[in-house]
Amino acid sequence: QRIGYAIVGLGHLALEEVLPAFGACKKSKPVALVSGNPEKLQKVASQYGIKPDSCYSYEQYDKLKDNPDVQVIYIILPNSMHAEYTIRGAQAGKHILCEKPMANSSAECQAMIDACKKANRKLMVAYRIHYEPYNRYVREQIRKNEYGKTKFVDAYNCQSSANPKHWRHIKALAGGGALPDIGLYCLNTTRFILGEEPIEVMGYAYSDPNNPLFKEVEEVCSWQMKFPSGIIANCATHYNVHDSRQYRIMTERGWYELANAYAYSGQKLTTSRADGQIVRQENVSITPKNQFATEMDYFSECILDEKAPYSTGEEGLQDQRIMEAIYQSAREGRPVKLPRIDKQDTFR
Ligand code: NAD
Repeated sequence: QRIGYAIVGLGHLALEEVLPAFGACKKSKPVALVSGNPEKLQKVASQYGIKPDSCYSYEQYDKLKDNPDVQVIYIILPNSMHAEYTIRGAQAGKHILCEKPMANSSAECQAMIDACKKANRKLMVAYRIHYEPYNRYVREQIRKNEYGKTKFVDAYNCQSSANPKHWRHIKALAGGGALPDIGLYCLNTTRFILGEEPIEVMGYAYSDPNNPLFKEVEEVCSWQMKFPSGIIANCATHYNVHDSRQYRIMTERGWYELANAYAYSGQKLTTSRADGQIVRQENVSITPKNQFATEMDYFSECILDEKAPYSTGEEGLQDQRIMEAIYQSAREGRPVKLPRIDKQDTFR
């Protein structure tokens, strides 16, 4: 049995990653499309065998309610549109898979959670790294204290961008710059691997005043997070440097270094550990999986088995709260404390 997905927004991610990933799915299939471009709708629908009467414009979005083939609405729109389309989608009686970042403010995240609860529909935020095998392996090793206790995390997610007119550079549409777009991976993946919630953050943000790309959103953001166990995570994200997407997790007797940690593919894991006087360095090889297919099938499984997904709206809200604290810290030039949250994390 396959769960039917309506894909909302036919931009880069939808066309280049999500729609092709259905080919690797076992429990999920695309059954409807929503786009503002009728030619694109027609072309993509014929490519993926989607019925013409399951193609909708944004004005027709609420009509998804009457399409029994659609169980999930997957929202792949600019960040500022996530809240509205999630709320209307839940009101149409559909489960929601929403792209990251969940929304542009914690108030929006809360409204999305409330709307899905009220409609008794599931809400999952699309944190694909939760389904990426190398990150999951590191998480398992860290949880087992394989090389002793974890002490320090160093994580970067950086890329360059060129088009100041793109929604990613307009604050009202993107919510912020590098932090909510790609820095979020350092934040969410660190929380995912450690299984702890930060209790304090210190942030620093900067934009070159002469670069039109960064008139509205930050070019670079770096921040530290302090965790209850004493672990410190040092994270940074940049919109104006060559791609760099790696982390190193340092423990008492070793480290894990994941290159391309947040990429769609190409992860490379190196570990080092002290074995008595000898230091052993190894490259770990794991069979890769399509992160989008695994993620969609997991959500379908949650619907079929009537279980709550791991990355619920609360997970997205927690990231949003931490990002708001990082921005506050950067603005005020001081550390910002976060409420202590003890979490029961049973996801495997
Ligand atoms: P994109 O610009 O390529 O696509 C956005 C789509 O939204 C386009 O089809 C555009 O026409 C449509 N749209 C509708 N109303 C719009 C408006 N008012 N302004 C601009 N566009 C409008 O963006 P994308 O890279 O596909 O990103 C879409 C979402 O997916 C974002 O939330 C982004 O953060 C997320 N994303 C996630 C990943 C991931 O790995 N999980 C990767 C890339 C993007």
